[in-house]
Amino acid sequence: MRVLVLAAHPDDAEVGCGGTIAKYALQGHTVRIATTVVPSLHDVRIEESEAAARILGVEHVCLDIPPDEMVFNRSIVGRFDQAISAFCPDLILTHWVHDSHNDHQVVANATVAASRKNSCSLYMYEQTIPGGITSCSFRAQKYVDITSTIEKKLEAIKAHASQMSLHGDWWLYGIRGRAQYRGFQIKKKYAEAFETIKDIEL
Ligand SMILES: [Zn+2]
Repeated sequence: MRVLVLAAHPDDAEVGCGGTIAKYALQGHTVRIATTVVPSLHDVRIEESEAAARILGVEHVCLDIPPDEMVFNRSIVGRFDQAISAFCPDLILTHWVHDSHNDHQVVANATVAASRKNSCSLYMYEQTIPGGITSCSFRAQKYVDITSTIEKKLEAIKAHASQMSLHGDWWLYGIRGRAQYRGFQIKKKYAEAFETIKDIEL
């Protein structure tokens, strides 16, 4: 299986679904994380993303869309079209369309629009941590047991040293806590949850 993870910023993919990414990589699937925009500390954050991807055992690319061009329009859908056609994924993981962050919403909407050919499945990972309060609730529909990869996920997040110095260990507690909560729901130690836009059997 080929899995494309479309994320707005560095660290979003790891926070949203790093355990699933690592699990798929260990299972022999080909996984690529595509970061869309780097709003600050450009070179530092690209290096951190590369280091995190190495920990997860996957490839990282950056679309490098300028921050002011993060608008849901034909142009960005075209960029996502290219990113998807270049990789030919069987599954795309992207932001939750109701995430409170504008860039995350743009990525989610552009991903839905760009995957209109219905040649692959599309799931949305939960809102990034930290994140704002939203007007509706995430509807967890698909769960992935990440008990075997939770530590790898957290290691990958620690590779984002610039963000660790910003948020501290509290950030990791929140991320681990949510994974425990999702795990508890399915009687596993840790899990990640997704909303499904479409699930196409291979
Ligand atoms: Zn983000």
